[in-house]
Amino acid sequence: MNRILLLPGDGIGPEVIAETRRVLGWFAQNRNMSFDIEEDLVGGVSFETYGTPATDAMMAKALAADAILFGAVGGPQWDPLPFAQKPERGLLRLRKDLELFANLRPALCFDALKDASTLKPEIVSGLDILIVRELTGGVYFGEPKETTTLANGEKRAVDTQVYTTSEIERIARVAFELARLRDKRVVSAEKSNVMVTGVLWREVVTRVHKAEYSDVALSHILADNLAMQLVRNPKQFDVIVTDNLFGDVLSDEAAQLTGSIGMLPSASLGAKDAKTGRQPALYEPIHGSAPDIAGKGLANPIACILSLAMCLRYSFGRIDDAKLLETAVERVLAEGYRTADIMQPGMTKLGTQEMASTVLKALDALAAG
Ligand code: NAD
Repeated sequence: MNRILLLPGDGIGPEVIAETRRVLGWFAQNRNMSFDIEEDLVGGVSFETYGTPATDAMMAKALAADAILFGAVGGPQWDPLPFAQKPERGLLRLRKDLELFANLRPALCFDALKDASTLKPEIVSGLDILIVRELTGGVYFGEPKETTTLANGEKRAVDTQVYTTSEIERIARVAFELARLRDKRVVSAEKSNVMVTGVLWREVVTRVHKAEYSDVALSHILADNLAMQLVRNPKQFDVIVTDNLFGDVLSDEAAQLTGSIGMLPSASLGAKDAKTGRQPALYEPIHGSAPDIAGKGLANPIACILSLAMCLRYSFGRIDDAKLLETAVERVLAEGYRTADIMQPGMTKLGTQEMASTVLKALDALAAG
């Protein structure tokens, strides 16, 4: 029995999670899988109900789940709230308490959407890269992190970039393990020319590679060069591993290569328990709560549906089923079905529910052979 916690959240979150739940139902019915599904509140809607964006009861369910499917949180009505009560704190608490240190963001360009990219179709057609970003260390969390006032009245702000050997080792291992399931190539990005954390990063990744993963090809690149290469020739990459700050920027850049934010899934993984093999995991579309289209049935559910495909692959080891779902999405796009955000001339425009129903029909057709 696979225990899944659904956390729809705010805005379009509940709309895309409801459709993804139908897809989950399809796998339960047709692929001999059983799920124990729970659902709870997170973000702004949790604040409205309980006065906090993440209750202890929800966190207990999250800790017990094999996988979490998360929608999105946030909205303008909660912007004035103090930091600790903001909807985003719900997601940050999940990441922190579950120690989700590895963020996986695939940038995959479906052939049918190659014209939607701002880059030339031949540059992005067939693109399939995976960015592995360290999520719980680095400059976003390093101490000191402070603003002080100097004697002359001027202000001085400090953030601190910190990495330890073990933090780098564990993210490197995640990248190498994932590369083994793909094209067996890892590029590690840092700024070892100007940062000591970059020097340590390069040393540790090289050592882990040599000792444990010599079957995978490893190369190193400076993060600024990587930013350039991603728009020049992104298809040269397979798996990219990098720190929290560079990963934040570079994964957004890679997302843009593929056209729409409504298409991109992500996963955040914790450490695998050596005894039980359990690994905390949270899957979510990379988009936010899209308050501008919430409640209108316009949201593209594909990013969330593809997050479920990642969940099938990484949490449940169902690689064939993950591929089946990705193929169903590919087929729907190839047949010309689009939500408003990816609409092109001559295509058929669908709403949120209709798009999910079309994916379900494609799954039926594929399963029937
Ligand atoms: P957003 O991703 O919500 O929306 C950006 C634009 O993309 C909007 O025009 C929106 O309509 C469109 N869009 C996003 N997802 C779409 C989908 N599935 N289908 C069709 N169109 C889609 O980003 P934003 O507007 O900067 O943020 C809105 C709220 O979401 C804010 O409160 C922000 O803090 C929050 N946010 C949450 C997360 C998260 O929960 N992980 C991530 C980013 C932003």
